[in-house]
Amino acid sequence: MGRITLDKVRKAFGDVEVIPPLDLTIEEGEFVVFVGPSGCGKSTLLRLIAGLEDVSSGEIRIDGQNATDLPPAKRRLAMVFQSYALYPHMTVRKNIAFPLKMAGLDQAAQDKKVEGAASVLNLTDYLERRPGQLSGGQRQRVAIGRAIVREPAAFLFDEPLSNLDAALRVGMRMEISELHERLKTTMIYVTHDQVEAMTMADKIVVLRAGNIEQVGSPLELYRAPRNVFVAGFIGSPK
Ligand code: ADP
Ligand code: MG
Repeated sequence: MGRITLDKVRKAFGDVEVIPPLDLTIEEGEFVVFVGPSGCGKSTLLRLIAGLEDVSSGEIRIDGQNATDLPPAKRRLAMVFQSYALYPHMTVRKNIAFPLKMAGLDQAAQDKKVEGAASVLNLTDYLERRPGQLSGGQRQRVAIGRAIVREPAAFLFDEPLSNLDAALRVGMRMEISELHERLKTTMIYVTHDQVEAMTMADKIVVLRAGNIEQVGSPLELYRAPRNVFVAGFIGSPK
């Protein structure tokens, strides 16, 4: 589960083509990072995959199924936003359980899944607190917990650490990488931070003005950047 294919996916806002027709395959279980300068279309591409934006043309397939016209809730993808989007008046337990409650699970089933996610994320001792009583990193984990309980085919992260200070960012990077090791679920991670891309990715997709400049492992991009833009962007010695 979690194979995502983009076939000539294109996006224009009015007359402005933000994503020219683009092909990309993300394999099951891969940790893929979209990296590129601000405004290059990373968030738009992620939102197209999530179904939060409609494609102008082209096709998106998830596990072989044409998902192009499916609403976000039917795509089995979980988006983790940079703003935590937690409910301040609800406990951590209720925040994480929210999608399960919406899906109509009974209380016992909700508790089981929430406690499983909390254990994976080291949040067991914080379940009865409210978001205001947590650190930035803990809040980020709650947001991830809310995604985990839905057992998605893939997690989509849009610069999830940009609100955190530098020290915390390093810790959270490792936590997300560990989470990927444990869950082995496909993850697509958007960042403008080359270090994040190089340290976290199985596969990096370098974007410039909506075009894919190069796709490869961190080592491939480092050793053989296709052009000066990629070399400059990932800090390779070309
Ligand atoms: P990134 O996430 O890489 O910083 P975005 O995907 O947010 O880039 O934006 C890519 C381009 O698309 C930018 O020029 C941005 O202004 C434009 N854009 C994004 N969303 C919209 C929108 N809803 N309407 C018009 N233009 C948009
Ligand atoms: Mg963005």
